[in-house]
Amino acid sequence: MNRPEVASSDRWRWLSGGRQRRQEEVILMLLCALSIPSILPFGVYRMLQGSWASAFVDMALVIGMLVVIVHVWRTGRYHAASLLVTIFYSTGMLVTVYLRGVALVYWVYPTMIAAYFVLRPAMALTINSAALAGLVGILVTRLEVVNLMTVVVTIGLVNLFAYIFAYRTGLQNKELHTAVELDFLTGIGNRRALERKLADHAQERRPHLESSLLLLDLDHFKDVNDQYGHAAGDKVLIRLAELMRRHTRSSDRLFRYGGEEFAILASGAGLSAAARLAEGLRAAVAASTLLEGHPITISIGVTHMDKERTPADWLAQADKMLYAAKQGGRNAVRVAEQETV
Ligand code: GH3
Ligand code: MG
Ligand code: MG
Repeated sequence: MNRPEVASSDRWRWLSGGRQRRQEEVILMLLCALSIPSILPFGVYRMLQGSWASAFVDMALVIGMLVVIVHVWRTGRYHAASLLVTIFYSTGMLVTVYLRGVALVYWVYPTMIAAYFVLRPAMALTINSAALAGLVGILVTRLEVVNLMTVVVTIGLVNLFAYIFAYRTGLQNKELHTAVELDFLTGIGNRRALERKLADHAQERRPHLESSLLLLDLDHFKDVNDQYGHAAGDKVLIRLAELMRRHTRSSDRLFRYGGEEFAILASGAGLSAAARLAEGLRAAVAASTLLEGHPITISIGVTHMDKERTPADWLAQADKMLYAAKQGGRNAVRVAEQETV
């Protein structure tokens, strides 16, 4: 059978020493890395000037960024680090303005924009609003009202624009993601979606969550195309996807990963539950009229997605079981013994 290769090529892989990195990790590390040459010269300059408090703040920021880069590089965990970096930066910026005066307010603008790169827009806006309140507290006795208002309004506008931009980009990304992982004919997940879901499942850390993988292939489907035409064949595929939806739980994920090959990731289903699901599906297809005047049947291979093995192993074993079902005369289900690959 034609089965997908898991571990698809990833643009960020070269940065990860082999592990698949998320875009968010790379952006966070890049921002931290960029901030070091931006701040370090000032820290050195303050030191040479003997401004020890300012130099300390700059150096603390530089060291903090280095720690974050190493942490994210090694662990791949970026959520808490993103939040910490933003809070750390905002505080550093406020202390700098407090120590060195209003001329340093220019640092506020890039710092606040950077927050939208690493955090969700609402979180970035919340932290920046708190930082702005702190800034007003620092500047209120040092600036004339009109100048203070200018600072507040310009920072407010920068945040408004950054928020709208980040929010829109987030929405577009979501839409793009959905479109890219959808099978255009049946509306269920495509091969790319299957690969991602399997990879996600392999990284899932809940050991008690048992899941199974079902691979389905239509029997003698070539005959359908030959006798009734490709359009009729397509209609059968659409109807089969609808039937699969009706006979599965909402937590089960459905995919069309090849021309007339489908997969089900049955979340929370151990091998016996998955076997029942497969048998139910097989019987339902055999009993239904997916094509008037022509019986349609499917064969199914089932495997348990245990954490000792990789997505490629799961696919290989389900594929092997599917092949066995075909060899056994089709319109059949074969379930893998857990240990054998
Ligand atoms: P088997 O029982 O061994 O699976 O026999 P089969 O004829 O179904 O063979 P196979 O699984 O290799 O099926 C391949 C056929 O599926 C070839 C092609 O005619 C048909 N097919 C593949 N993709 C599509 C599609 O998108 N639409 C239609 N209508 N037919 C497709
Ligand atoms: Mg096939
Ligand atoms: Mg087939």
